[in-house]
Amino acid sequence: MSCSTGPLVDAFNRRISYLRLSVTDRCDLRCTYCMPERMQFLPRKEVLSLEELHKLGLAFIERGISKIRLTGGEPLVRRDVMELVRALGRKLGDGLEELTLTTNGTQLAEFADGLAAAGVKRVNVSLDTMDAGLFEQLSRRNRLGDVLQGIAAAREAGLKVKLNTVALKGLNEEEIPYLVEWAHRHGHEMTLIEVMPLGEVDGERVDHYLPLTAIRDRLEARWTLNDNDHRSGGPARYVDIAETGGRLGFITPLTNNFCASCNRIRVTATGQLYACLGGAEKVDLRAALRSEEPDAHLADALDEAMRIKPERHHFRIERGAAPAQPRHMSMTGG
Ligand code: SAM
Ligand code: SF4
Repeated sequence: MSCSTGPLVDAFNRRISYLRLSVTDRCDLRCTYCMPERMQFLPRKEVLSLEELHKLGLAFIERGISKIRLTGGEPLVRRDVMELVRALGRKLGDGLEELTLTTNGTQLAEFADGLAAAGVKRVNVSLDTMDAGLFEQLSRRNRLGDVLQGIAAAREAGLKVKLNTVALKGLNEEEIPYLVEWAHRHGHEMTLIEVMPLGEVDGERVDHYLPLTAIRDRLEARWTLNDNDHRSGGPARYVDIAETGGRLGFITPLTNNFCASCNRIRVTATGQLYACLGGAEKVDLRAALRSEEPDAHLADALDEAMRIKPERHHFRIERGAAPAQPRHMSMTGG
């Protein structure tokens, strides 16, 4: 057994500095592109405890992870999540540069102040539509009002809110310019995302797959889009829109991939580290954490993750084809 302590660098010389940590696979919505109506959630004992999540976070910070994003499922449905936020928040300025989360926003109104007090500066909120009927159709729950209240509360608490919108053919397609305009008017950045083939859902995802190249063309006919070289170290590419005065990101895993600059890894709520969102390569951090010598086994597991991280994903979206990976986005947190 080795006992590495250095920064995390993979076989393609990519420095891994960003961890997306899923704290639960559960959710209070059932977005149709994300999971089936009757989603089977994991038994609680399989999910990492608060102490295990905290220990993992600290081990990653020791190895040079400077940004942690909590995700899920819906991170704010986990009862003790704020304890984790506060515990990790204490590492801000002491190895950790940024602590953030991705949320569907339904419970943000309750938690926004606590998040800000713990040192969170920015949150990503998923919002695919501002039409209450379509929201209910897409998420199978009537919660648009709660989400909008959550966004307003986050703003009032001083959090920067970035909106994430999955572009869906025949569903929110026509609304996208209005969503962009609304987001920018309220001072939010927005990122559009192509739907990815991860996990079985009830319908055919391909029916609603909308390449963002088409959306960009349409937005360009309406507004002046200036490329912006802002990089978040992630797969998004940005433009500034002259007329709205705001920034818009495009995440295009299907039409274009930016794997060469990937700086991230993902850990599921059961402690499985997936080296790539679109790949099966993983190491079991829960087994390491629950072993006799957790520190040494964790260090080894992280080294192994760096060896197996693939160069790129190979997403394809086709009618009748199996998903690229059987696990849902709610497992790996997007
Ligand atoms: N529940 C939280 C939320 O919705 O923001 C966090 C987890 S959710 C899995 C993270 C992001 O993944 C959301 O923005 C969601 O829209 C997106 N997502 C889920 N399934 C997806 C899919 N199959 N393709 C593309 N994006 C997906
Ligand atoms: Fe829940 Fe987020 Fe998946 Fe929607 S996208 S079902 S909010 S985990």
